[in-house]
Amino acid sequence: MNNSLAYRHNGLSCSRWRNAPKKMASIFHREDTNEIYGVLDTTMKLRYHEDKIRPMLDGAADTIAPITIHFAPTLRCPQRCFFCTYGGAKKDPTQLDMKLLEAQHYISRLSELGSEGIIFTGGGDPCMHKELGEMVETCKQQGLAFALQTNGDGLTPQLAERILRCDPVYVRISINAGNGQQQRLMTGVDNYEKVLGNLESLLRKKHDLKSNTEIAVATVVDIVNYTGLINLADRLLEMEDRITADYKTKTQINWTIRPVYNYPASKVYNEYQLKSIICNLNTRSIDEAKAFNEFMYNGQQTPQYILDKAVHTIEYGIKPLIKERNSEIRVCYPLQKFKTLGTIKEKPYTQCRAPYFYGFVWPDGVLYPCVENAGNSNFAICNLKNTDVKDILQLRKGIIEKINNECLSKCSPICAYHEINMHLNNLANAAETYCPADKNNLVRRDVAFI
Ligand code: SF4
Ligand code: SF4
Repeated sequence: MNNSLAYRHNGLSCSRWRNAPKKMASIFHREDTNEIYGVLDTTMKLRYHEDKIRPMLDGAADTIAPITIHFAPTLRCPQRCFFCTYGGAKKDPTQLDMKLLEAQHYISRLSELGSEGIIFTGGGDPCMHKELGEMVETCKQQGLAFALQTNGDGLTPQLAERILRCDPVYVRISINAGNGQQQRLMTGVDNYEKVLGNLESLLRKKHDLKSNTEIAVATVVDIVNYTGLINLADRLLEMEDRITADYKTKTQINWTIRPVYNYPASKVYNEYQLKSIICNLNTRSIDEAKAFNEFMYNGQQTPQYILDKAVHTIEYGIKPLIKERNSEIRVCYPLQKFKTLGTIKEKPYTQCRAPYFYGFVWPDGVLYPCVENAGNSNFAICNLKNTDVKDILQLRKGIIEKINNECLSKCSPICAYHEINMHLNNLANAAETYCPADKNNLVRRDVAFI
């Protein structure tokens, strides 16, 4: 679950990137060609924040207030996805819901700190918190941009309307299956039709309210569900057709498809669910059943051949289907991650700089530096409940030093901030060769490069 806020996409054009001068392209060239990243491209979004990039190049990164904060109001979730990033944390019954007054206090502290956007996310599913509506209204009152990432199970039409009325940047529903049976294997419950129904209501509400909010679907691909991608595409296309017929106008869905990552603290071990998955995979392929076992018990990533099959399905199945149906669904997928996740052994950068720009607030109010380490007390920056705003950045400095001096090699080779860290490292390395006056030009040209 990962995106930068505090901007709108107006004017964001990949053709500007492709038409950029050759010299800049060589500094910022990335193998993962931009047009397939689309809205996944957080590095492009970061370039809107020249004021934040500049201090990093001047050696004053510790003064940068994080732009976007992931905010987990609860650890409760109706699903039990076997790959859940916070699977381990869900065992702790003492850390469940944020209290509303505390959540409002944290949002105010973050606004005071200089953060610009809040992403309500998991932890668990934010829609399980009965006061989510009040929390998003607090963001609106405070002038903070916000977004919602949910599994869609609890996003009733009433809640969807309340949230859309507060003008979120985006609402993103995770759907990781092609049918109800696969949904049960992936999540432990068969709420497939309910989730698709809630997505359709959300899209209809967006039309009813003439809302500018971007509606997105997020899918993570793994051994179990890569075979369901085409079915899911069919269901989204059918939904689009119904809405287009009723509203006489096209509806737009951004569909992001990423490989699932295997982190040490992720995963939910539900015996019954795991046995069902193994039985199911055994009927498909013994190798896939073995690979699933390796994923769950030996920390292996999804095998490369499965990620390659997923890319093949996207490129030769889903994209032609969308074109043929004259659909407005936009598919975005990080090709470089798909191509390397199964084999990469080391991070292609030497410094983790993403936590200068992001943060993660856990339901107990503790601020963490990133998505993967949220909930891990070794990486706790401070508790927003009782920390003076003026001390937060200094406390964060200590944790970032610890990450870079002691922990970076232990982090998974590809994490949620992979592209951001690659970009920031490229930028910092390029800046080292520039004289001080030219550093300003480097930032300006990077911003102009969007
Ligand atoms: S991945 Fe999301 S939907 Fe699945 S169990 Fe975790 S928090 Fe719930
Ligand atoms: S490199 Fe490690 S500390 Fe940095 S963002 Fe990724 S997981 Fe977090």
